[in-house]
Amino acid sequence: MHLRPLDQSAKLKDVLYEIRGATLTEAARLEAEGHAVLKLNTGNPAAFGFEAPHQIVRDMIAAIPTAHGYSESQGIQSARRAVVTRYETDPDFPVFDVEDVYLGNGVSELITMVMQALLDEGDEVLIPSPDYPLWTAMTSLSDGKPVHYRCDETQGWQPDLEHLESLVTPRTKALVVINPNNPTGAVYPRETLVALADIARRHSLLLLADEIYDRILFDDAVHTPLASVAPDLLCLTFNGLSKTYRVAGYRSGWMVVTGPREHAAGFLEGIQLLASTRLCANVPAQHALQAALGGVQSIDALIAPGGRLHEQRDVAWRGLTSIPGVTCVRPDGALYLFPRLDPEVHEIHDDARLVYDLLVSEHILLVQGTGFNWPTPDHLRIVTLPEARVLAEAVERLGNFLSSYRQ
Ligand code: PLP
Repeated sequence: MHLRPLDQSAKLKDVLYEIRGATLTEAARLEAEGHAVLKLNTGNPAAFGFEAPHQIVRDMIAAIPTAHGYSESQGIQSARRAVVTRYETDPDFPVFDVEDVYLGNGVSELITMVMQALLDEGDEVLIPSPDYPLWTAMTSLSDGKPVHYRCDETQGWQPDLEHLESLVTPRTKALVVINPNNPTGAVYPRETLVALADIARRHSLLLLADEIYDRILFDDAVHTPLASVAPDLLCLTFNGLSKTYRVAGYRSGWMVVTGPREHAAGFLEGIQLLASTRLCANVPAQHALQAALGGVQSIDALIAPGGRLHEQRDVAWRGLTSIPGVTCVRPDGALYLFPRLDPEVHEIHDDARLVYDLLVSEHILLVQGTGFNWPTPDHLRIVTLPEARVLAEAVERLGNFLSSYRQ
């Protein structure tokens, strides 16, 4: 019997997701040989001893006996109501109602749906560089063209607004803003958001605000939702349970539509259509969402000075910045560090190779900066979720490794 060779579709050609990339196979091989591999590649709190808040678990278990049917495609009414209530406490956030809320199997699914509903071949989307790579991947998969605007490391990774506006063309449809940012940990001040909204206003761009880290803030950092400075623009705000509530495996996220809808009826119908084709998001996880948003913000103790996440950020940042030839903007939010390896000191031509060599030598798994659509091989991303002593040791080993590493 002759079986026709099967290759992946051509549309996957530009789809990149190095966070779970090829080095994972090598990590699995090392583990199979009995080595412990420290995986600092994914922002998965459960893998580092963070427990699911018990109210969420309890309510989800209580819902299971009656949560076995499909729900409405946008999500159960009571969970969408909880999303509305969450934003009602912010007087600047534009008013919206349950029909403007979509629940998804994580923010990831909602991003995928939106890009599919929005883009025709060649339509352009402005995406930060570095970015959370799903935005670029889903733009490509939807036949769109990702256009990366620079974030400026010398300015605390703030978006370079001049560069951003210079990239706008008649094909530009949307502007993606990730705030607090993955991978840089930057939190944008209100003036930056106002300036981003002005650019969107001048060029009639859809705003796509990924705010999944909006409650993971350190010291005096304040998060301003993008929608709150652009009530006159169509804005989709994305958020979910994976980070703030540490239940990434439940796959539970939401999207809120604010601003004028009349000019976008077709696009919104497209989202509705795609929401129906996947029937609905996991229903027990929608109950988890309702419980989470109705409860206390238990992340607060972890991010306060002396709290676990705060301490881990500090320990990792101090360790990294004491390695010769390594600098790092101290993150104001999120769960990552994005250090720079000075090319004068560390001559790296291939950062994927560096990550692979570090894994084989030290059994530490990081992600290379180019995996976040950063153009040059001079950055790494490190997850700050492990306990401080584990992070301190990992960073020390990274320093020792780099001191003799040459490409
Ligand atoms: N957006 C950003 C910026 C992220 O960092 C992540 C996950 O790491 C996601 C979206 C996806 O989150 P979810 O688990 O809700 O799919």
